Amino acid sequence: MQKQIQLRVKPEEAANASSLIFLVAQAIGQTPESISGYHILKQSIDARSRQQIWINLSLLVFINESPSNRYSDKLIFPVLPTNAKEVIIIGAGPAGLFAALECIQLGVRPIVLERGKDVRSRRRDLAKLNKEGIVNPESNYCFGEGGAGTYSDGKLYTRSNKRGSIDKILRLFYQFGADERILYEAHPHIGTNKLPHIITSMRTQIEQSGGKVLFEKKLVDMVIEKGTIKEVFTADGDRYPTQAVLLATGHSARDIFSLFYEKGILIEAKPFALGVRVEHPQSIVDGIQYHCAVRGPNLPPASYSLVEQVNDRGVFSFCMCPGGIIAPAATAPGEIVVNGWSPSKRDNAFANSGMVVQIDLATAAEYLTKSTKKNNSSINLNNPLLLLDFQIYVEQKSFEFGGGKQIAPASRLVDFCSNKISKDLPNASYLPGLHSADLSNILPNFVRNTLQEGFKAFGKKMKGYYTNDAIVVATESRTSSPVRIPRDPVSYQHPQLSNLYPCGEGAGYAGGIVSAAMDGQKLAQVIASQLGS
Ligand SMILES: Cc1cc2nc3c(=O)[nH]c(=O)nc-3n(C[C@H](O)[C@H](O)[C@H](O)COP(=O)(O)OP(=O)(O)OC[C@H]3O[C@@H](n4cnc5c(N)ncnc54)[C@H](O)[C@@H]3O)c2cc1C
Repeated sequence: MQKQIQLRVKPEEAANASSLIFLVAQAIGQTPESISGYHILKQSIDARSRQQIWINLSLLVFINESPSNRYSDKLIFPVLPTNAKEVIIIGAGPAGLFAALECIQLGVRPIVLERGKDVRSRRRDLAKLNKEGIVNPESNYCFGEGGAGTYSDGKLYTRSNKRGSIDKILRLFYQFGADERILYEAHPHIGTNKLPHIITSMRTQIEQSGGKVLFEKKLVDMVIEKGTIKEVFTADGDRYPTQAVLLATGHSARDIFSLFYEKGILIEAKPFALGVRVEHPQSIVDGIQYHCAVRGPNLPPASYSLVEQVNDRGVFSFCMCPGGIIAPAATAPGEIVVNGWSPSKRDNAFANSGMVVQIDLATAAEYLTKSTKKNNSSINLNNPLLLLDFQIYVEQKSFEFGGGKQIAPASRLVDFCSNKISKDLPNASYLPGLHSADLSNILPNFVRNTLQEGFKAFGKKMKGYYTNDAIVVATESRTSSPVRIPRDPVSYQHPQLSNLYPCGEGAGYAGGIVSAAMDGQKLAQVIASQLGS
């Protein structure tokens, strides 16, 4: 017999299989001996009560019968016939890779062109970035196999449940090597140490099925005839004739936006968010969220999600990484961009999160006009690259007021909110190093003021959060794409180029690993049906 039940247990009970069996048996009026096993269907933490933290479990219990073989129904990837139709996929991030896997299932051969390197070679460039502050513009935290998702936290939580099947994405991550927990935890994550292996397994599958994933193949131009792309060119001089192009180049492919602009291919400015990364000792966040002096052994490092409206402008936390590291995420020398990641165990001593402010077109235009003292035509509301120019301007200011190379400008939190330059900085996770700086030289006033009010408000919601033991680091600016590449809502084709399918975060249709992956799958289905496969 099988029975589905909901159970609320203490963390130590959830962590101990025999305690849990005893509680399950009690809940359904059976003896512990009759419980032959259970599957966890959902698991979440409820830390609202100051007296007791609870673990909520949804369980499928097997009574006097052997538990079924869970997740045995793996997705099968066929070997493609030699005459399979082909699609060119630009970019091997989550959107591109999941599109490629979906293409294979639908009988279409994916040829993935990726500007960066494979995960292993990419790791060497990240080491140089962290140790020597050298940014390789083709191989960094944003560019390379697996895209921006590879050396990330690998949080797999998304609210975009209408875009496709979240479950299918999680099952694929699991099939390619992620821990089973991602299938039932409320806020699943994989971790930077595990992601590269999973991404490599996906590539191996694509290749074994007859697809191709080619590295150091940067799209630089294309031949367009009568509203269709006939050929794409890569920087090494290779040319690829094509019937369909899925463009999944991510939010940092600035040269793609420029290429489209120069060729008169329609793109649009897209509001995005910009701010700082804030880092606290993890123990402070644990203490606040779990109402305790020391986190219990059966609880994961605590996280938070904060949002506030300050003078009609949204300020919110973004990509929170408990037990994480602040990463240098620039894609070119002369700019500083920060982001965050964490290992699977989230066992680093710090908790970091983006804290960002919504940027609209009019305010960005006004700011650029004043600060660049130029009144040129690029600073007008019709320029699709206006918000990109704003993003670049702030990132370059961050570099100018940093400590050289990738040493990032930073301030203690309360000092930042009181317009003081910090005399010193506490220990932090950011490997290239920090430099105490006046962030008013970097952040536009409207961003700085909104952040300051936001942090004060967050300090009221989370007592202990507003502290000088925390630091803010500039600049968190790659939260989403500042440019949209439009597509028809039904056919998903670009309005001017009938075989161009803009996809993922860079085109403005996703935000995060799972939603980018779902967008990739959806566009693969559209392309397969349009190619008649
Ligand atoms: C440090 C860090 C941590 C993050 N943590 C999380 C997290 O925990 N959870 C989450 O959901 N999201 C996280 N993100 C965001 C997430 O990684 C992105 O939302 C996601 O990767 C977007 O997927 P994508 O495929 O659309 O684009 P991308 O992942 O950006 O991939 C685009 C790919 O295209 C390639 N490319 C660009 N230009 C060209 C060209 N001209 N020719 C060929 N190839 C090109 C790039 O090299 C890249 O590999 C994080 C990002 C970073 C940087």
